[in-house]
Amino acid sequence: MTADDLKLLIRTIPDFPKPGILFRDVTTLIGDGPGFAAATALLADRARDAGAELIAGIEARGFIFGAAVAARLGLPFVPVRKPGKLPVPVLAIDYALEYGTDTLEVDPGAVPQGARAVLVDDLIATGGTALAAVELLRSAGGSVSQSLFVIDLPDLGGAARLRAAGLAVHALMAFEGH
Ligand code: AMP
Repeated sequence: MTADDLKLLIRTIPDFPKPGILFRDVTTLIGDGPGFAAATALLADRARDAGAELIAGIEARGFIFGAAVAARLGLPFVPVRKPGKLPVPVLAIDYALEYGTDTLEVDPGAVPQGARAVLVDDLIATGGTALAAVELLRSAGGSVSQSLFVIDLPDLGGAARLRAAGLAVHALMAFEGH
């Protein structure tokens, strides 16, 4: 299955969750067994080539792809969580959204010092979420140099921001616009 085949499995919902947003829905991709397997395999190949020692995924859809990649490679999976979910003392980072702020948290004990971590999420738009996750993983002691996404929205500039922060960025597909 090619990247073009995978792109056909993404469902686009206009005006969700807000007017003007084209929501790129990966549930139709993961709802297709061969498609989910192919997407996971392509991401895992990149993570292996990057020398991954652990896979970190961003809640919630980054858990789906990140955990599948980690299991395929036999690597640890570290969840980067929304606030208040982890049952241990956490490292936290606040980051700006279009309106307001949000927070991500990680268990610092889950990240061995200097471990080569590859970050996985379903989609990169402005890059704010991924940049916050990278900063958090780095402050926990991880070495993050590769990020992987199913979908890139290049017109929103997130991939360029991550590259400017010294991160390699790879996405399985891109959609124009926002
Ligand atoms: P950003 O921080 O702007 O890069 O936004 C990335 C996060 O928001 C990802 O975790 C995505 O799941 C979600 N997201 C942003 N824009 C979209 C979109 N157009 N369709 C689906 N998810 C989106």
